[in-house]
Amino acid sequence: MKARPTKKRTPSTKAPKSARFKRSATPRKKIPKNGKYPDIRRDLERQREAILNEAGEVLTHRGDIAAFPDVSDQASAEIDQNFSMRIRDRERKLLKKIEEALERMDAATYGTCEDCGGDIPYKRLKARPVTTLCIECKTLQEQEEQARG
Ligand SMILES: [Zn+2]
Repeated sequence: MKARPTKKRTPSTKAPKSARFKRSATPRKKIPKNGKYPDIRRDLERQREAILNEAGEVLTHRGDIAAFPDVSDQASAEIDQNFSMRIRDRERKLLKKIEEALERMDAATYGTCEDCGGDIPYKRLKARPVTTLCIECKTLQEQEEQARG
């Protein structure tokens, strides 16, 4: 018997029902069914998947550490583990940002600057899909952060 997985490549950018609720002020612009930024959504989903896969591998890997018989292997395994944990922390944060970006897409608030309410240019979103600020506000924020030290 052949258990061939039925085509898993269905382009499923199902917009949840919530996306249809009009959120405040976008009366002029009509948002297409699968969102304004279908390709960025795809990027985000792909990135999320990659992180989740990697996280799974890290967890599996960590399970093996106790089995290292050699001391030096053990030591390097611990370094490896610390490294993995740092990565995981960073990735967990990124993962959260990705989730939030996808939520904003569902709510049709994606691409709007949190600070000034202006549109974030597509180019910026494409380069940095999890951003919530336009470049001006982001620059300002960074300057303030630097000033605070
Ligand atoms: Zn802004």
